[in-house]
Amino acid sequence: MEKDYYKILGINREANADEIKSAYRSLAKKWHPDVYATDSEEKKREAKEKFTEIQHAYSVLSNPEKKALYDQYGSEEGPQMSSGGSGFGASGFGGFGDIFSDLFNVFSGGDSSSRSSASRQRSGEDIEIQLTLTFEEACFGVEKEITYKRTENCNSCNGTGAKNGKSYTTCSNCKGTGSVIVEQRTMFGVMRSQQVCPACGGKGKIITESCPDCGGAGRVKRQKTIKVKIPAGVDNNQMLTVNAEGNAGYNGAPNGNLIVVFRVLPHKIFVRAGYDLKLDLPIKVSQAILGGKVTISTINGDKVDIDIPEGTEDGTVIRVKKRGIKFLRKDSYGDLFIKIIIDLPKNLSIKQKKVLKESMDILENASYSKVDKFNKLTNN
Ligand SMILES: [Zn+2]
Ligand SMILES: [Zn+2]
Repeated sequence: MEKDYYKILGINREANADEIKSAYRSLAKKWHPDVYATDSEEKKREAKEKFTEIQHAYSVLSNPEKKALYDQYGSEEGPQMSSGGSGFGASGFGGFGDIFSDLFNVFSGGDSSSRSSASRQRSGEDIEIQLTLTFEEACFGVEKEITYKRTENCNSCNGTGAKNGKSYTTCSNCKGTGSVIVEQRTMFGVMRSQQVCPACGGKGKIITESCPDCGGAGRVKRQKTIKVKIPAGVDNNQMLTVNAEGNAGYNGAPNGNLIVVFRVLPHKIFVRAGYDLKLDLPIKVSQAILGGKVTISTINGDKVDIDIPEGTEDGTVIRVKKRGIKFLRKDSYGDLFIKIIIDLPKNLSIKQKKVLKESMDILENASYSKVDKFNKLTNN
């Protein structure tokens, strides 16, 4: 059974908010455990109990909603209160610091201003998907259709979970605010905190008949297809964020994002290094000796003549400017690096070998600079 809060504060039932506050203030000062001085342990304990009582009485009478319930039903928890779900556990045994901040809160009436009327809002989750691109699509950009599953608000019930979007009532426990002030009595005082309303889970509404399409969840999984413009120059593991195409937000909060992670397939001949391209170009040994032109196809299909100088060594790298990949969101290109691979002929016929030997024999040792140098160093 609740005590008489008016009696505890020494005021009559007609007292206004200012009178309640000033009565509390003077009593709290008198009975505060830090202030109340006595050498009797029993008196000290009594003072603590008295102080707790005073705090609790004030927490009810200073809160218009609770005061109304208390005046009408003799309990600030109203008529339907029973299960004691928000029991007075001994948790949050905060010490005097908490009491002072609590006192301050009560004096300044802090909690009534911070209560929001909207029920709990939370952004939807991001969705990450992988998208495989060909090498060329990554180089030149592409528009792609992406199909994926995401959570959307149920259309039939407008995301409320209630049949036709109307079969609900305002939660009586929180009056539709979605949150409740929970008080915990400790031996030092009453701790107050704002918590999600346990009756409605923070929605502020109680569904009386569930939406048949979503089973009352208000949310459904749907397949979604969107078109995404992928800019030229993207690379493996790079991500593109598509705003607000993720899961639906809760209670009207914004959607999450769709995050597209690229997987780029390898090219037949080009290898990417940032915005540069690398190409291994095999040439005949005769081309390496005599020099010549080789025509190659660049990544965008242009034909480009590459000059192979006379006497080109194996592994020589030839740089062709601006024939690489377009920079992401920049009007500039990387370079193409061509590495020469000298291909030696194999499986020659006896006749081929004979002719080749005869023609090669006309060359002097001096024509082979490395052989010549080695021979001189080793006196051969
Ligand atoms: Zn509620
Ligand atoms: Zn629904």
